[in-house]
Amino acid sequence: MKRVSILGSTGSVGTQALEVCVTHGFPVKGLAAHHNEVLLEEQTRRFRPHLVCIFDESRYQSFKTRVADLPVKVVTGIEGLCEAASMDEADMVLNAVSGMIGLRPTLAAIDAHKELALANKETLVTGGELVMRRAKEQNVPILPVDSEHSAIFQCLNGYRHCKVNRILLTASGGPFFGKTREDLRHVTPKDALNHPNWNMGAKITIDSATMMNKGLELIEAYWLFDVLPEQIEIVIHRESVIHSAVEFTDCAVIAQLGTPDMKLPIQYALTYPERMPCPTKALNLWEVGKLTFFEPDEETFTCLKTAKEAIRRGRLYPTLMNCANELAVQLFLDGKISFLQIAALNERALELDGSGEVTVENILNAEAAARELVLSSI
Ligand code: NDP
Ligand code: MG
Repeated sequence: MKRVSILGSTGSVGTQALEVCVTHGFPVKGLAAHHNEVLLEEQTRRFRPHLVCIFDESRYQSFKTRVADLPVKVVTGIEGLCEAASMDEADMVLNAVSGMIGLRPTLAAIDAHKELALANKETLVTGGELVMRRAKEQNVPILPVDSEHSAIFQCLNGYRHCKVNRILLTASGGPFFGKTREDLRHVTPKDALNHPNWNMGAKITIDSATMMNKGLELIEAYWLFDVLPEQIEIVIHRESVIHSAVEFTDCAVIAQLGTPDMKLPIQYALTYPERMPCPTKALNLWEVGKLTFFEPDEETFTCLKTAKEAIRRGRLYPTLMNCANELAVQLFLDGKISFLQIAALNERALELDGSGEVTVENILNAEAAARELVLSSI
């Protein structure tokens, strides 16, 4: 039985991952969250992990007091999060924190030779070059949790030696599919948080509404599957039944289908290379009826163009864009900027100099520069 440490255990992916661990009896040895003390305490009592990280240092003492009767080590801050990613007591780490704070724990898990189930796409958007190189050097498998990347990973099973023509990266289109820029001028966080097919954390849900999520996923696929950005085609598929597909050199297209439920990709990463029964609703194609496909509207959802430009330039440009986006999404959720300003700020971040080498230090410097730019532009 794999012993698991879950970073972001109180979130949408994290809580579903814990259910998968319960279903299959995987011991949970590490837990980490940002500040949700109540749920983290509940999880600590239920799973009896060896180590728990409460990232927010101002809550460290109060959290320690909450679990003082339990034999658990409590840690905090980025060092604590990295400890949860590299602890001896776990064989596998699921990184399901949201945002680029996930990068250093990802590297810590690789350096400690943990099998890595990766939901945190911002890790690859910012540090893809570093992460993939380090994983190769250390011979550590990276198992994608993002549903599209899990699908591509599954389509490639058994065909790793074959030449790929294209990856067909599917996108639901989010709540604003078919809208014009004019329609989007006054949308509120409540409108944008209303995703048609998936129930996810707030940040990724806003990313789905701006379609930056698909831009981030294009970059994620570029790093995971060693293809050129031009080989990744984004296809709007409203039903979210085809989770993505791969076209091989003979033009055969292999796709992975299923009901939209994150439990399946989360479980596949945890049980890989095995397949186990999953408590998800089986796909009923008669009920689905028809599958539809559309081209993305890059003139309305300009984040797609920005993401393509960022990865075309490479280096630290995806980091600049990602950091601007993380802050812009937060500002939008806080009611400080409009929906369309998110895309405008992401585009502006590419005006900064991102030509430096990809190192952790330079990534953190780029993050600071992008934050400064966003804050001075609003
Ligand atoms: P949520 O916002 O629901 O959860 C985020 C989790 O990360 C929470 O447990 C949060 O803790 C924790 N967290 C945030 N910052 C820190 C930190 N600094 N230290 C420790 N823990 C932290 O996000 P999701 O579960 O939706 O998404 C997580 C990641 O997975 C994202 O990168 C997202 O893009 C990706 N993903 C998500 C999918 C989904 O269906 N939700 C699908 C595909 C990918 P707290 O609760 O205390 O704030
Ligand atoms: Mg996805």
